Amino acid sequence: MSAVIMDGKLLSSKIREGVKARAAALKEKGIIPCLAVVLVGEDPASLSYVKSKEKALGEAGMESRDIRLPQTTTEEQLLSIIADLNNDDKVHGILVQSPVPKHINEEKITAAIIPQKDVDCFHPVSVGNMVLEKPGFLPCTPNGVLMLLREYNVPVNGRHVVIAGRSNIVGKPLANLLIRKEYNATVTLCHTGTKDLAYHTLQADILISAVGKQNLIKPDMVKEGAVVIDVGINRTADSSAAKGYRVCGDVDPVVKDKASFFTPVPGGVGPMTIAMLLQNVIEAGENCFKERN
Ligand code: NAP
Repeated sequence: MSAVIMDGKLLSSKIREGVKARAAALKEKGIIPCLAVVLVGEDPASLSYVKSKEKALGEAGMESRDIRLPQTTTEEQLLSIIADLNNDDKVHGILVQSPVPKHINEEKITAAIIPQKDVDCFHPVSVGNMVLEKPGFLPCTPNGVLMLLREYNVPVNGRHVVIAGRSNIVGKPLANLLIRKEYNATVTLCHTGTKDLAYHTLQADILISAVGKQNLIKPDMVKEGAVVIDVGINRTADSSAAKGYRVCGDVDPVVKDKASFFTPVPGGVGPMTIAMLLQNVIEAGENCFKERN
């Protein structure tokens, strides 16, 4: 069997076109949707993430307020910047690139962003709204995975989804969304306390890996015909690549010969995350217009 490749790049470009049209419509009503992108320090991977987010915002006709702060920024200074952004009517979303330097308490920073501007959906109130199925932003990577399943008409209702990884940004919210009645999946969540990962992954109709370990998921851990979604982004040294590394997922690429659907890395979930972020920013801008009128 050779899997259908779930093309996140293609789907994300369609979504981004839709966001661009919504941004143009909002501009005509006098609102330029804007995301404040805050980066503390000079971590090269974080810098490359924020640059790609800022580029995507520009391409969708939205603004980014690029705030670059030195590594020595104190927690108090960062909290004060966030307070200003919370009060700034021209800023509709706020994103603080993770990780922040160790001397800053990331939880405090997350909790300082008002939920109306929390387009990452990391604030405890945003997470609570998501779990309780109240209105609010949906977390970008989990929502990106759901959009891919929907686009490829993958049945989820009644199926067994096994997720490896229980982080607050991927595994936990994804499990919460998949158990909603509208998806109706039965979900198993695996982590480092899981005794026999392969025992669980072999039962998955839909297997999602969000761990951050290259080749963690091998073909003998996957049921024939399973849907396999690889959230992992791992850098591996490659002297033949222009940047000196290449990006791999958590799933051994040969798994696609066993899967019915398969997401590539790069080009699968990664581009969907950015598309979902753009969608949340435009929604924040639209919410702002509704509040004013
Ligand atoms: P994280 O916070 O480090 O969480 C990793 C999770 O994997 C933890 O829950 C950990 O369990 C679990 N885990 C570690 N080793 C395991 C094993 N051998 N078996 C089962 N579970 C194991 O990572 P994250 O932020 O969720 O990111 C995970 C990966 O997804 C990374 O590669 C990251 O770069 C990528 N990512 C991609 C996107 C995207 O847009 N595609 C977005 C976000 C993240 P414990 O809880 O027990 O420690």
